[in-house]
Amino acid sequence: MKFEELDIIQPIQDALKEKNYTEPTPIQEQSIPLVLEGRDLLACAQTGTGKTAAFSIPMIQRLNENPAQGRRKIRGLIITPTRELAIQIGENIKEYSKYTKINHTVIFGGVKQGAQVNRLSKGVDILVATPGRLLDLISQRIINLFDIEIFVLDEADRMLDMGFINDIKKVLKLLPRKRQSLFFSATMPDNIVKLSREILYKPEKVEVTPVSSTAETIQQYIYYTNKSSKKNLLRHIIKVNEMDQVLVFTRTKHGADRVARDLKKKDITASAIHGDKAQNQRQKTLKQFKNGEVTVLVATDIAARGIDIDKLKFVINYDIPDQAETYVHRIGRCGRAGEEGIAIAISEPEENVHVKGVERLIKQKLIAVEDNPFPQTEKPMTAAERKEWNKEKKKRRDEYFANRKKKGNSQNKRRRH
Ligand code: AMP
Repeated sequence: MKFEELDIIQPIQDALKEKNYTEPTPIQEQSIPLVLEGRDLLACAQTGTGKTAAFSIPMIQRLNENPAQGRRKIRGLIITPTRELAIQIGENIKEYSKYTKINHTVIFGGVKQGAQVNRLSKGVDILVATPGRLLDLISQRIINLFDIEIFVLDEADRMLDMGFINDIKKVLKLLPRKRQSLFFSATMPDNIVKLSREILYKPEKVEVTPVSSTAETIQQYIYYTNKSSKKNLLRHIIKVNEMDQVLVFTRTKHGADRVARDLKKKDITASAIHGDKAQNQRQKTLKQFKNGEVTVLVATDIAARGIDIDKLKFVINYDIPDQAETYVHRIGRCGRAGEEGIAIAISEPEENVHVKGVERLIKQKLIAVEDNPFPQTEKPMTAAERKEWNKEKKKRRDEYFANRKKKGNSQNKRRRH
């Protein structure tokens, strides 16, 4: 199918042509006609399927039918969980709407509000927002939602995972009853379905690539190694595959920093991105990664959510997540929109059990790489060893906190003197 067959107006068609989009992705093919008809939508689709365009294009088109007379009012609202996603959605809308009469802006927390407020004061048609900043500006009476015609809740499952449920409920109370609502989520557990019922009116359901299916265009490999060899193995993998752009996932922020530091020591340009980094620093790192100044981007799951890198070929799982769905989300960063992707996982003995979980979920075996200079020689701990190890870990943690407390007390005393 071609975009021309979807009744999309010429100004948007022209913008799509400039982006070299010729055919709609399945979620776009299914959603766009329904949204153009004014229907509510319950869409099950993860990032990488083209979902942003699936809601943005018909939103722009519908709002463009009645362009604002006089001062613009916010008529389209898109709520999304992270700043990165908000910015990315904003970038997409900017491109799709460039030949229409529709404008937009993006608001998110973690930065001063001044510039955002200035932009809002000039009047916007579409607002892309994270929940916290949106409510904040509503409470200051800088924004109101009286004129919303189309409301999109993006990444609803992640939104709930991140604890935004109350914020969303507050926003819902402020929306006009008469509106069109689109609800996007990668997964549809019971709590999400329940939330969708509070938002949608007689929705049409569309679904593409449920989370258990990984894109067919992604080849998936695994290296089994020892914990102590991971660092060297990662370097080996980057070198032998001549990777010039690779996204590496770690479970923790410390892990991300450590991996980036170790690579830099060996002259591989690397940067870490995670929740402790300032917003502008994260944006800078992402930009450097996108334009090739940084070869390796090391990210935690939350920070990477919504990172959208055109034509990213390589994703490395530096650890195997205990939630198999996380693995699927991670590797979904590469091989997007039909491009080739290669996902490589590294498993230490304690993680072998998680590999089994992943293989069960995706219903396929990861290809174990034989040519591995750092093979796994150690065994996972037995139950008794694990118990002992956990005890030891707890002891060390308790000691650490006790010491910190002691230090803090003595410093306070000193200050008082
Ligand atoms: P999304 O799922 O919205 O994060 O989109 C995933 C990626 O696919 C983004 O890089 C989009 O720019 C790209 N994309 C979206 N729609 C199309 C299309 N119809 N043809 C080619 N690429 C697309």
